[in-house]
Amino acid sequence: MDDIRSVLARHGFSFKKKFGQNFLTDTNLLSAIVRDAGVTEETTVLEIGAGAGALTRALSAAAKRVVAYEIDASLRPVLAETLAGCENCEVVFGDILRADLPALEAELGRYRVVANLPYYVTTPVVMLFLEQAQGCEGLTVMVQEEVADRFCAQAGTPAYGAVTAAIALKGRAQVTRRVPRTMFTPRPNVDSAVVRIDFERGRLPVQSEAAYRAAVRCAFLSRRKTLANNLIAAFRVSRERAEELLAEAGVGAMARGETLPPEALARLADAIAAHGLA
Ligand code: SAM
Repeated sequence: MDDIRSVLARHGFSFKKKFGQNFLTDTNLLSAIVRDAGVTEETTVLEIGAGAGALTRALSAAAKRVVAYEIDASLRPVLAETLAGCENCEVVFGDILRADLPALEAELGRYRVVANLPYYVTTPVVMLFLEQAQGCEGLTVMVQEEVADRFCAQAGTPAYGAVTAAIALKGRAQVTRRVPRTMFTPRPNVDSAVVRIDFERGRLPVQSEAAYRAAVRCAFLSRRKTLANNLIAAFRVSRERAEELLAEAGVGAMARGETLPPEALARLADAIAAHGLA
C-alpha cells in the first residue's frame, strides 16, 4: 500500500478547509488512538470523518466492525484504495449531523465513537451523542487542545462550561494524549488532544434530563451575574422563588453558575423540575 500522501496526490485530491480536513498519517499515533479508545475485536466502531482512511484502517485491524461517515464524496476513490481488503469496514458518504441516528443505531447495536473530528463541528457532534444516542458506550475523539481541556475542566475554572456539565451528566472525560500540530497534514494552527469519554448509565441521577439541560443553560447564561439573577432571567420567576430554588438545591444565594459542580447542577435541575419550570 502506497503512503496515504501519495494515494491522495495520485487521485488529485485537494484538501478542503471547510470540512476541517487535517489528516493523520503516523501509524504509531494511529495505533495509540485505537488503544486509547479501548477498541477490541468485540467493539463496533462508528468513525466520524474517514478522510483518507488512515484511522479507519487502524480501527479495522482492531475492531469487530467499523462504520465510517465521510461528508466529502470526492474521497470515494481514495478510500476504495486505502480500505481495500478491510472487510469489516463500511463507508457511508454523508453528513453525520444529518444522519438518521435511531436508524443508524439500530444497525450498529452497542458501539463506540472514535474520530479525529473536524474542528468546525466538534461541539455539535459531541452534543449529538451526549443527548440523543442510546447505544453509544463512549467517544474517543481528537479535538483542539483547548476544547479537550474544556471537556475535562473542574468547576470554577475558566475552562468549565456548558459542554463540561453536559458531559458530566453522561460520563467521565479524560485527556489520553496531547498531539502537536506537526502530526497533521495540512498542519492546523492549533495543537490537539485525544479525549476519551466513557458513558456510565445513571452517573448523575436526575429526575429529568431536560431540567438538567435547562439548569446548565441557566448557570452559564451570563457569567457576570449571580445564579439567582440568571434564574430570574431564564425562568421569569421572582427573586423569592429563585432563592427558594437555590435553597432546595443547597446552593448559596450569591453563588455564580460556573462555580457549581455537576452534582449541584443536578440538584438544581431537580428543584427546577419539582417547581414545574422545565
Ligand atoms: N480520520 C481522518 C484522519 O484522521 O486522517 C480524517 C480526519 S479530518 C480531521 C476530518 C474528516 O471529517 C474530513 O475527512 C472531513 O471531510 C470529514 N467531515 C467533515 N465534516 C463532516 C460531517 N459533518 N460528517 C462526516 N464527515 C465530516
